[in-house]
Amino acid sequence: MSILVFIEHAEGEIKKSSLEAVSYAAAMGEDVTAIAIGPVEESVLKAAGSAGASKVLHAADSKLEKGLIQPYAKVIAQAMEKEGAKTLVLAKSSLGDPVAARVAAKMKAAFVSNVADLPDTSSGFSVKRSIYTGKAFANVEMTTETKIIGIKKNAVELKEDGGEASVEAFEPSLDDADFAVKITSQDKQEGEILLPEAELVVSGGRGMKGPENWGMIEDLAKTLGAATGCSKPVSDIGWRPHHEHVGQTGVKVSPQLYIAIGISGAIQHLAGVNSSKYILVINKDEEAPFFSAADYGIVGDAFDVVPKLTEALKAAQN
Ligand code: FAD
Repeated sequence: MSILVFIEHAEGEIKKSSLEAVSYAAAMGEDVTAIAIGPVEESVLKAAGSAGASKVLHAADSKLEKGLIQPYAKVIAQAMEKEGAKTLVLAKSSLGDPVAARVAAKMKAAFVSNVADLPDTSSGFSVKRSIYTGKAFANVEMTTETKIIGIKKNAVELKEDGGEASVEAFEPSLDDADFAVKITSQDKQEGEILLPEAELVVSGGRGMKGPENWGMIEDLAKTLGAATGCSKPVSDIGWRPHHEHVGQTGVKVSPQLYIAIGISGAIQHLAGVNSSKYILVINKDEEAPFFSAADYGIVGDAFDVVPKLTEALKAAQN
């Protein structure tokens, strides 16, 4: 019996969070088959093998655009049936969660999202999920035969030592009713790094004093290839657009590195960044609460530290 993993791809790459989901499934010790949906190169899919998938099913139909939740759920349920998979693993994401909920309804499965650790099978099958925006964990018993597990980003060690996966075409049975919703346009600028997906984020707070000083945030972000974010008051005042607002009431980010500059670290801000792998805080107040959530901290004036940091990074890149 195999575990099925739904892998998401964007811009011709499998998402890192999906490779983490494959790594999680591989660590459960069973054969792992992945399912990829929509057009993507076969050579890209083979790379899922490095994280532990032996095979990738590919539903390549160009009609299966990202964001079409209903047909995605149907494709995945059909792939589970084909493989006889009783466990589906996927990354917790804005696509993964609604898709998984529908697969759960179709397959009469328990679905637990935001899971941060391997299941405990010593008595039954329980998983540890992150709750209260990362402030606590709950152990949840899954009692159905079919189970769906959504993996919290950056919670699983990425396995990179596997071989190449084989890729097999998968032809799901879909009809017109599955495409009742159509994506008519998408708003992303060419080259723009989307904040919720970004691997690196440079974020500024009220300590930046005004919008005229954002050049140094953008310069650092550009040097690193990072997305830019901000605290809520910064977008409320209009220094930055609302879609950059990070936190409980804004975007939740999960980058490899979150750089917080002139942000105090209120709990509502931390709620949006606590899935980051590493956090670097730059703040002139050594008592700023953000330092207790940080992996690295620089106590100093942002107007002094940030340009020097950017210059040093530029020099290191040359
Ligand atoms: P401040 O609290 O004013 O902090 C500025 C920081 O900059 C200070 O730590 C200061 O030491 C530092 N600083 C000043 N000058 C410099 C300098 N020259 N160099 C370096 N550091 C400097 N906030 C969010 O961000 N996201 C949310 O989603 C969110 N949701 C909320 C929901 C609710 C219901 C409520 C009540 C509040 C919410 N907030 C949210 C607001 C939150 O409580 C804080 O008020 C906000 O995060 C503070 O923003 P800040 O850190 O940019 O500003």
